[in-house]
Amino acid sequence: MLERAGAFREVGAGIQVSPNAGRVLDALDVGAAFAAISAPSHGVELRDGSGGALVARLDYTRHRPDARFRAVHRARLLDVLEAAARKAGATIRLGEHVTDLPDAPLLIGADGLHSRVRTALNGPERPFFTRQVAWRALIPLEDGGAPLSQLFMGPGRHLVSYPLAGRLRNIVAVEEREAWAAEDWSQPDDPANLHAAFAGFGGPVPGWLEQVETCGIWGLFRHEVAGRWHDGTRAILGDAAHPTLPFLAQGACMAIEDAWVLAACLDAEPEQETALARYQALRRPRAVRVVDAATANARNYHLDGLPKHAAHAALRLASAAAPGVLFHRVAWVFDHDPTRLS
Ligand SMILES: Cc1cc2nc3c(=O)[nH]c(=O)nc-3n(C[C@H](O)[C@H](O)[C@H](O)COP(=O)(O)OP(=O)(O)OC[C@H]3O[C@@H](n4cnc5c(N)ncnc54)[C@H](O)[C@@H]3O)c2cc1C
Repeated sequence: MLERAGAFREVGAGIQVSPNAGRVLDALDVGAAFAAISAPSHGVELRDGSGGALVARLDYTRHRPDARFRAVHRARLLDVLEAAARKAGATIRLGEHVTDLPDAPLLIGADGLHSRVRTALNGPERPFFTRQVAWRALIPLEDGGAPLSQLFMGPGRHLVSYPLAGRLRNIVAVEEREAWAAEDWSQPDDPANLHAAFAGFGGPVPGWLEQVETCGIWGLFRHEVAGRWHDGTRAILGDAAHPTLPFLAQGACMAIEDAWVLAACLDAEPEQETALARYQALRRPRAVRVVDAATANARNYHLDGLPKHAAHAALRLASAAAPGVLFHRVAWVFDHDPTRLS
């Protein structure tokens, strides 16, 4: 494996890992190691950004008591996966920036948003700026921090926060705006800009933002799901194949699902080209569905005025009268078991 970074280190703080990806971690026999470095998440609370009042709740423990929803610092997850890959005999060469794609019997491009392998298979891509930026930050976790994800919705912006293991709180804040930002976490931003964007928010948000000392900013771009995932000797997975807006917390989970299915297809099918075709056939429809669902969420979180009041009232009612309805709308994401190929 060739990786341009000199070390697997913190890239963009925390991520949520839902049971669909957790099933792969279990099948890879790293479930226990993952549990040790991650924090449980009991559900999601949707809250009104201005006062912090509860709008709706998705209670994982009630609807899927046996499933594991967790949150983890990215660098710690990478450590676990790296150790497991080395133990399984993989050679990992760090500090190797691939500029020309090597000739190999099989080349797998897990090279992210700006994938060279995707370009080789599909030609250049034209992603467009969604006019949304995301800040990411870590702060210390307060005593008694609830083990759940809280999402504060406001006009043209929302903020999500959840605890990570190691007494940390992860913050992702998204704002609609005209000014362009690059699609890259290496861009630091002044926390004052984050404060200013969320100045009208209430509840715990002002107290959290006061503690932000450093943050990164990332421009959110829409990409098409790649049409061609392989050519018989080269294949793509994860963001290389289907960059996903973060509004369903599924991009990394989908990369983990892809990796399992790709390996399983290669294992089961003696003809490499047939195996890769099966991989694409199994994965592309799900990737399209997840990418579309994530894109739709941005609109729902950022409402203002009358549409916001109507939507929040409907959510409050649904959450109180039929709490299962909200969960069941997204259950197809979490109930999927990629380790069972059909
Ligand atoms: C704000 C935000 C919040 C998110 N939250 C979540 C979440 O809660 N849950 C979730 O599941 N997903 C989340 N995601 C999505 C997730 O971050 C990505 O989908 C995931 O990282 C994709 O993994 P990947 O391995 O495909 O690509 P990457 O993580 O981008 O990894 C690609 C790797 O390839 C290397 N590379 C690239 N080019 C080369 C080259 N030429 N030579 C050598 N190496 C190269 C890079 O250095 C990198 O290590 C979030 C995204 C954002 C923006």
